[in-house]
Amino acid sequence: MNFSEGCSWIDSRQEDLLSNLMQLSEINSGTGNLSGINKVSQFFNTYFSDTADTFSTINSNPREHVDISGELVREEFGNILTFQKRVEAPLQVLLVGHMDTVFPESHSFQSPSRIDEQTLLGPGVADMKGGILVMMTALQAFESSNHSSQLGWQVMLNADEETGSHGSMECLVQAAKNADAGLIYEPALSDGTMSRARKGSGNYTVVAKGQAAHAGREFAKGRNAISALCNLAMNLEQLTDLKNGITLNIAKVSGGTALNVVPENAVLQFNVRCESSEQQQGLEESLAAIIEKASLEHATELKLTGGFSRPPKIISRTNQLLMDWLSEGGKQLEIDVRFKDTGGCCDGNNLAAAGLPNIDTLGVCGGRIHTADEFMLINSLAERAKLSLNLLHKISEQGEQLKKLNEQESTSTRLISEKS
Ligand SMILES: [Zn+2]
Repeated sequence: MNFSEGCSWIDSRQEDLLSNLMQLSEINSGTGNLSGINKVSQFFNTYFSDTADTFSTINSNPREHVDISGELVREEFGNILTFQKRVEAPLQVLLVGHMDTVFPESHSFQSPSRIDEQTLLGPGVADMKGGILVMMTALQAFESSNHSSQLGWQVMLNADEETGSHGSMECLVQAAKNADAGLIYEPALSDGTMSRARKGSGNYTVVAKGQAAHAGREFAKGRNAISALCNLAMNLEQLTDLKNGITLNIAKVSGGTALNVVPENAVLQFNVRCESSEQQQGLEESLAAIIEKASLEHATELKLTGGFSRPPKIISRTNQLLMDWLSEGGKQLEIDVRFKDTGGCCDGNNLAAAGLPNIDTLGVCGGRIHTADEFMLINSLAERAKLSLNLLHKISEQGEQLKKLNEQESTSTRLISEKS
């Protein structure tokens, strides 16, 4: 098959893709539903293993963190599913998707429904079961076309992206080291707009320990953990700098017991976002300083845990080249390819920080994700698969240019970091 025959083959798959997507949406795979994740993993294994040379599952790492009641909790995640083809090829592409959704088994949104000719509503149809089908269809078309044997690939499907990829990040970063480009299948907006730079994001928990006392008899002996955290929250909010793209969102608070007791314990959780690694470093230093000061002022122990699990995604020259290739492909296919910066995060943040240039919204077009109105546009299944097929051909034909630029950039980053 040549490229245009590949596109016709993709078009002929449209109805089949839709019915597979409806079956996938029917399987609940909220991040915490490990048996549901397992079912989705088996589905993709049956669906795709013939296209790959090898496939395997890899255990995710467990995560320990402090929750809103101040307890240390341990979380387990579903297994990572991976497929590989031509590991020996000089050029390697890493394609990433996530099998989990934000909808737990207890949620009312569990089944897909076609609301009109063009629109499918359903959990995970856009984010990102539809995207994984787009990825696999593009690879199948690529494998049956006259491509260069210079390009090998690895597909990696994790099971915990929606909670920050804590259990799969080590594995993703390891795979990124062997790749020259990353393709990630998060959904594009419903008008087709894709993401460019992304903000970095950090989640933090502060556990406050004051001194309990009877609110009537010995009020002055108490040290109020809630008051300390309220004051702290007001000071932390001062770090928000909208003009420069920095936000600090006070997200959750808990604490206190009875109304006649000065509260001894309280917990505060917040999220921070920023646009550059310099801002990230500045924020980390400010957080530590503000908390130390508040702790002294209120004579209350304040313990900070957490950090930036998603570093800012900055567009490198190599990343720009990938985006240019995608735009060229869009022209050829008469698809309007547009990019826009976003405050949201995904695995593309971490892969970029690991030195892998990537495009991270190659999945279906859709919207209202993370709500019970999540939808995808049915014709984008074939449309976006053709766009990916085109990009795979470009990488396989001109990948040396990408590799060279990538090497130049990593050398210059290394020189800068050695200097500082
Ligand atoms: Zn997603």
